[in-house]
Amino acid sequence: MIEQTLSIIKPDAVERNLEDRIKNFFKEKDLKILKSKKVKISREEASEFYKVHQTKPFYNDLCNYLSSGPIVVMILEGENAVAKNRELMGATDPNNAEEGTLRKMYGLSIDKNSVHGSDSVLNGKIEIDFFFK
Ligand code: ADP
Ligand code: MG
Repeated sequence: MIEQTLSIIKPDAVERNLEDRIKNFFKEKDLKILKSKKVKISREEASEFYKVHQTKPFYNDLCNYLSSGPIVVMILEGENAVAKNRELMGATDPNNAEEGTLRKMYGLSIDKNSVHGSDSVLNGKIEIDFFFK
């Protein structure tokens, strides 16, 4: 099924000028970039975006991090886009990510892991609305 999902290039990757490389990677793997913009979000916006994680011990650092510098937010579209993007990203912790995945190639640590991807079609819709509505 053709789906849409939200992808974010996180501050650590934007800072290292990886935007074009990551975008080309998605395009090569048949995920179309429907929309893209570079933004810097506030601490409040980050805490809203990541509110599913509000009970986690890393929540505070996570919100500070996502709002620490420019990010690139994208709508990706393609066959099974949600699962496909998760596969291309690799495991949350780059140390556990498979060879050839974005987090293996570019992730620095579990918190600075370069990319975000929606974890379901429903959350994809919610996250796309969050940035593009
Ligand atoms: P994913 O981004 O793979 O969907 P989660 O939704 O579980 O992972 O977590 C959201 C983000 O929170 C992760 O991408 C990562 O940056 C951060 N994070 C997750 N687990 C930890 C942890 N144990 N310590 C620090 N940061 C974490
Ligand atoms: Mg997640």
